[in-house]
Amino acid sequence: MADTDQLATLTGVLDKRMTRQLKTYLDICARCAICKDACHQYVATNDVRYLPAYRAELIRRIYKKYIDKSGRVMPGLYEGRDPDEDLLDELYQVSYACTGCRRCMYFCPFSIDTQFILAAAKAILIAAGKGDEMLGQLADAAIFKGDNAEMFHDIVVDGFKDVEGRLKELTGDETAEIPVDRQGADILYVALAGAHSILPAAAIFHEAKESWTLSLYESANYGFFLGDPVKARKIADRFMDEAKRLGVKEVVITECGHAYRVAEIFHEAWSGEKHPFKVKHILEKIDDYITSGRIKVPKKIEEPVTYHDPCQIARNGGIFEQPRDIVKAIAKDFRDMTPNRQEQWCCGGGGGIVAIDSMNEMRLKSGNRKVEQIKATGAKIVASPCENCRLQMEDLNEHHGLGVRIAAIMDLVVESMEFPAKAGA
Ligand code: SF4
Ligand code: SF4
Repeated sequence: MADTDQLATLTGVLDKRMTRQLKTYLDICARCAICKDACHQYVATNDVRYLPAYRAELIRRIYKKYIDKSGRVMPGLYEGRDPDEDLLDELYQVSYACTGCRRCMYFCPFSIDTQFILAAAKAILIAAGKGDEMLGQLADAAIFKGDNAEMFHDIVVDGFKDVEGRLKELTGDETAEIPVDRQGADILYVALAGAHSILPAAAIFHEAKESWTLSLYESANYGFFLGDPVKARKIADRFMDEAKRLGVKEVVITECGHAYRVAEIFHEAWSGEKHPFKVKHILEKIDDYITSGRIKVPKKIEEPVTYHDPCQIARNGGIFEQPRDIVKAIAKDFRDMTPNRQEQWCCGGGGGIVAIDSMNEMRLKSGNRKVEQIKATGAKIVASPCENCRLQMEDLNEHHGLGVRIAAIMDLVVESMEFPAKAGA
């Protein structure tokens, strides 16, 4: 049993989050269990803890006992429960395991958003000091780095200079550059840490003659995975504030699922301000460049290519066709997975789960449906524009001996391009 102070704190956290939306989700579940066939984790493990409705039920029981009037009057009838140690441990397992794919919501007859309910679970866990430790450390490290940007400035800029050297070599153009903090650029490109996220985008922007810049800040947001909106907002504010300062017209997010969703969907709600610029995913820009002829992709990929829709970009972000258009433009043999688009199976790597070692075994198992889908296409290349999806599918590739190449779409686009400066050299 939680002590009185802790009980008041934890139930207070839930009470504060009790919006009409959350209350509706908690009240209307019909226990039909249709969601069981939608969740890759339940389907792979048959473990009731991973059934979406069961995960929500853990929060519902606290709600029934302490917040909903009927539950306070008759907690026995509504099976109300205290947020005691056992319940908190179970909440940890079900909420940090959830990849936030929202496939259960898509199939639920009432569109109940289990991920939304589990965001309340994470808030309770954080208040109880039981938020995921690794995700917390990664979020704090990002905040520290941002708070001490001057300390890291030279190291980061030196890294960009190295990438610039590789860009000149790749394009064969000595004038190719990686602009940083360029006032008045049209686009702020928000990359992940590492050359792999910058070099292909820079080559594409260069050939498209785009006006763009980087800032010192990255797109990855472990505060979002942790379930701490204050930290998540702080991490996202860094590049959003830079976008305003630089006066860009568009913020373009790299091949990353959660960062796109944070920037496009959550940040305005967190900050209470409308962005003075558009937010786009890099694939939307690349699709435009190919369609308008700003970049040419004459070197078609011979091997069959399939495409995995990252949940945060596709089902939760609404981007379905542009990546397919790109892959069809660069590959001779595109083979879609079944099911796809809104019904695509989650690969099992989202929501920060790839950073949680204790969940590795379940994570690998939960990718079974994705493995079957990939095999059924017979593709040799699996393209996907999300780093977490690629990390998970690399693990699945190795574990199941799939013998495929897991690739970022930007990399495949660059391989399909001809760089005139290089050809003429
Ligand atoms: S499908 Fe929806 S209504 Fe049915 S049990 Fe799952 S969450 Fe509840
Ligand atoms: S959001 Fe995805 S992982 Fe989470 S419960 Fe629903 S189907 Fe399962």
